[in-house]
Order: sequence, then structure tokens, then C-alpha cells
Amino acid sequence: MRLLLVEDDTMIGETVLDVLRGEHFAVDWVRDGEIADATLQSEAYDLVLLDLGLPRVDGIEVLRRLRARKDATPVLIVTARDAVEERIAGLNSGADDYVLKPYDLDELLARIRALIRRSQGQADSVREIHGLRLNPITHEAFRMLPGGQETAVPLSAREWAVLEVLMARPGVVYSRTQIEDKLYGWKDEVSSNAVEVFIHGLRRKLGTNVIETVRGLGYRMPAQ
Ligand code: CA
Repeated sequence: MRLLLVEDDTMIGETVLDVLRGEHFAVDWVRDGEIADATLQSEAYDLVLLDLGLPRVDGIEVLRRLRARKDATPVLIVTARDAVEERIAGLNSGADDYVLKPYDLDELLARIRALIRRSQGQADSVREIHGLRLNPITHEAFRMLPGGQETAVPLSAREWAVLEVLMARPGVVYSRTQIEDKLYGWKDEVSSNAVEVFIHGLRRKLGTNVIETVRGLGYRMPAQ
């Protein structure tokens, strides 16, 4: 899952960036409203974490422009504890939820996950299909054995992230580039065959039928 972090405070930004990357999110970080606005016009994100007090263009305006473009990307705004009016303005401008500064990082993660889940139409955080079960909170993956018992499957962070993308929308084909976009931020080095390597690893661990190759288009998890 790929997130845009919009935060002008360096210390807060670095802390949040560390925490999100530690939870396997691909994160791009921008520090002013104008760059945030430009970035949101050119890149696709699963969620935007938007500070409201920003240089050049404030967060509310970034949000208004996003929604004016009919862009429904989930937006979690960040406001000061006592800034009730700002929070209301944010929600009225199309924010999906808010978190208060200073951050409680566990709460921040819980709200991010809840919003992404909601945007994908899922009520439950645990994903289950084809005898596979993913727990996004603990980052554990389980596979059903023929006898009906479950076994834990050790996956690398990137393998886990690929599986999470495909399992979120069974039946939908993702190109290699689309998967890369969800796995990596701007500063990450991406080797050209990285996605193929992760898919190969997943098939080796989970069985070859779990992920389908759609020739010339990409990969998908079968819908049925
Ligand atoms: Ca700020």
C-alpha cells in the first residue's frame, strides 16, 4: 500500500515515515502544499496523511482541489488538539477522518488501516481467500492445509506487500508497474525484475495456482 505523507515539520515527518515504513507501507513524503497538490495530480495513493498547517498552500486547499478533481483517495487530516474549527472545515472539505497532534502512533496506524479497508469495501481487517489468510496488523500469513489445519507461511516484507495488493481486489489484474508503485516510494531502488522475483517466491511458498499471470497485462488473484 502506498501513502503520501504531507508534513512540513521535519522531526514529526521523520518519525511518522519510520513508523509507516516499519509497517511495510511505501511512503512518499512532501513538505508543502503546492508540491502535495502537484504530486496528487500525477501519482496514485492508497491514502493521504495530510497536515493542515503547511507552507505555500494550506492543507484544506490541497484537499479541496483533490476533491474538485473528483479524486476519492482516502484522506486522513492531522490537526492540533484544540483546533476544532479547523477539523470541522477539513471534514466538510472532504476529509475521511482525522488524527490529533501530537500523534498517538498506534492510533494513527489503526485509523490508516481502517480507512484503507473502508475504501476497499472491507469490513474486516483480516483478509481471507483461497485458503489463505492475511493479518495486516501482525503481518502474518496463513495457508490452509488439505486436512483443514492452518500453517503459518513465512513471507518477506515485500512478498507480503505484493500478496496484500492482490488479495485486496481478487480478480483485478495489476501490471508490474502498478504493483511496483504500491511497493516502493520515490527514493527506493527498484530492480527491473523485482516484482517477478516476489511473485515467484509467493508461488513457491503458497502454490502455483494462487497467483495467475495474465499474459501481457500482469498478475491477479483468481476471484473464485
Ligand atoms: Ca504543519
